[in-house]
Amino acid sequence: MGRIEGKTALVTGASRGIGRAIALELAREGARVALNFAHNEAKAAAVAKEIEELGSSALLVQANISVAAEARAMVDKVAEEFKHLDILVNNAGITRDALLPRMTDEQWVEVIETNLNGCFYCSSAAIPIMTAQSFGRIVNISSMNGQVPALGQANYSASKGAIIAFTRTAAAELVHSGITVNTVAPGFTETDMFDAVPAPLQAKIKSHIPMGRFGHPEEIAKAVLFLVADGDYITGQQINVNGGAHM
Ligand code: NDP
Repeated sequence: MGRIEGKTALVTGASRGIGRAIALELAREGARVALNFAHNEAKAAAVAKEIEELGSSALLVQANISVAAEARAMVDKVAEEFKHLDILVNNAGITRDALLPRMTDEQWVEVIETNLNGCFYCSSAAIPIMTAQSFGRIVNISSMNGQVPALGQANYSASKGAIIAFTRTAAAELVHSGITVNTVAPGFTETDMFDAVPAPLQAKIKSHIPMGRFGHPEEIAKAVLFLVADGDYITGQQINVNGGAHM
């Protein structure tokens, strides 16, 4: 028996990177997993195939989470297909970096709409379903850069800091409903998002990480699994997975 056998999960942004690793980790422990993606259907389908090879089942759900109607319709569709929705991992996120004097309104809005509003839309659609079940596990993926200055990322760090604040209030409001809400905050993790950082800057960043290396997506996924499988008495909390880069 897996640790979350019989549970169902929706992971946003599960076609690549950290979301893919989370989806695989949850499936490995017995959950049926809905894989949300925005554009990369082929990559999401490849993750679904990996999940089926693990002996679990996957559901592909395309939706732009920054559009309220799309995000909410996706959550409803997943709950309908699976008959219940136990776990929501708000993972999808983007960067649109620029120093403040050059940051455009579009860069600001796109990041806030995707990272923060998307988290709200999916959560607010899942909460009534989870409340009716008297059970739910919501994990929001924030970032170390929501806690420390991140040059060129005022939009991103604002969205990620807000996710931490949102998590605490949601947890407090839902504490009697059987729903826990927690944050996992990765440090620099080897994915497409981090590959976009220029090599010289990556080397500089690495030199400041006490453990001397970047994180692997699987290491973030293990923290999510812990919260959803063993975190019955944990809510409103944050797990930093960053190699000691921020303590
Ligand atoms: P990637 O860029 O590798 O993957 C992003 C994922 O999000 C993809 O699956 C993408 O789908 C999906 N996505 C993007 N926009 C939308 C949207 N509007 N609607 C639905 N899905 C969308 O990112 P990471 O795996 O690196 O990051 C995952 C999360 O972890 C993000 O929230 C990020 O901020 C956070 N994080 C990452 C860190 C890192 O160093 N990598 C550090 C700290 C936090 P598609 O493939 O279809 O485009």
